[in-house]
Amino acid sequence: MKPGAGKPDAVLGAKSAFEKRLPIVSPEGVPGEEFLADVRQILQSRQLTNGAFVREFEAAAASFLGVPYCVAVSSCTSGLILTLQALGLRGEVILPSFTFYATAHSVLWNGLRPVFADCEPGTFCLDPQAVRAQLSANTAAILAVHLYGNPIAVTELEAVAAERGIPLICDAAHAFGSEFRGARVGSAGAAEVFSLSPTKLLVAGEGGLISTRDPELARRLRAARNYGDTGAADPEVVGLNARMSEFHAALALRGLPGIAVRIERRNQIRVRYERQLGSIPGITFQEIRDGCRTTAKDFSLIVDQAEFGQPRDWLVERLLQRNIEVRRYFSPPVHRQKLYQEIWDGRPLPVTDWVSDRVISLPIYSSLGDEDVDRICAAVSELDREAERVSDTRKVRAG
Ligand SMILES: *Cc1c(COP(=O)(O)O)cnc(C)c1O
Repeated sequence: MKPGAGKPDAVLGAKSAFEKRLPIVSPEGVPGEEFLADVRQILQSRQLTNGAFVREFEAAAASFLGVPYCVAVSSCTSGLILTLQALGLRGEVILPSFTFYATAHSVLWNGLRPVFADCEPGTFCLDPQAVRAQLSANTAAILAVHLYGNPIAVTELEAVAAERGIPLICDAAHAFGSEFRGARVGSAGAAEVFSLSPTKLLVAGEGGLISTRDPELARRLRAARNYGDTGAADPEVVGLNARMSEFHAALALRGLPGIAVRIERRNQIRVRYERQLGSIPGITFQEIRDGCRTTAKDFSLIVDQAEFGQPRDWLVERLLQRNIEVRRYFSPPVHRQKLYQEIWDGRPLPVTDWVSDRVISLPIYSSLGDEDVDRICAAVSELDREAERVSDTRKVRAG
């Protein structure tokens, strides 16, 4: 992206920080010409889906994640749906509301009842205490999310699940390459499900990956992704076609080698943002869990109106005017969305509402340059000064 520095304001418009809209996301690890050789090989093999590339990708991913079994599927959503089905659940699933709605969709697809629990105020991940408060005689599973790649409270949530004798499943859509206490995320609970879609860490174009330590669950999932057929043409379960094609597997395989470097770069960007924006009144960030490493799948500011002087949406509008693409991940929270507000049990989720009302997600991807980050920070700082000028609350505070 060409920065607009040095150009006269008349050309750029007084407020543009970038000549062209700076995108919030850019696909990671997309291969060049070398991928064309893979395509040729696939075409020559006449095996277009669920073949040697898929097997190689599953083995490489299992070795990267340090987990015995990986099952490649067509998306994280289909992976979550099939995992909940393969576990044979009946009743309620406790999950966060501060997440992408696909997490909750997988529960509804199985005819299970989503029960929302609040998130932790610092990490924005599912709060084990809030989960305990939502347990009932009908609780069948806990479905947690490594939010923005920040690992969940694995130990505490596994303990709650174990006490109840129910499975913990992780939506690890954001967390391919995250680390929990020195080990890569992927081994928690009964299974973890990653997304390989273009906005995530490892890109297959479209795709998902289920990791598990349970050989029997892996076997059932392999059948489930193939209409439920284990090979006897006599399906045991109502499966889907949720297979991964060879082309997608080849793309993901090409993306795997550079992933640690890209995650390192994303964390540099995260820290660069935090250093430059951390002193602005009313702006805070997600806390990364102790001893853990995030993928920084997203980078979000939390804007507190009382301190900043203006609401979150005031800042969103002005960043968009300055050609910086920003989003509200995740706002509204799932329990306030049309599909879910009737299903929600009405028990308050104060932290979820608080975060969701204040969140702004800024551009982050490994190809984003320091200069771009600095330009975004300069725009936020300039808006901070404007907020101070026009705000009554801040004038009172300052005076
Ligand atoms: C993107 C995402 C999904 C869905 O992933 P797909 O591969 O697009 O199905 C699920 N959960 C979360 C938290 C996500 O961000």
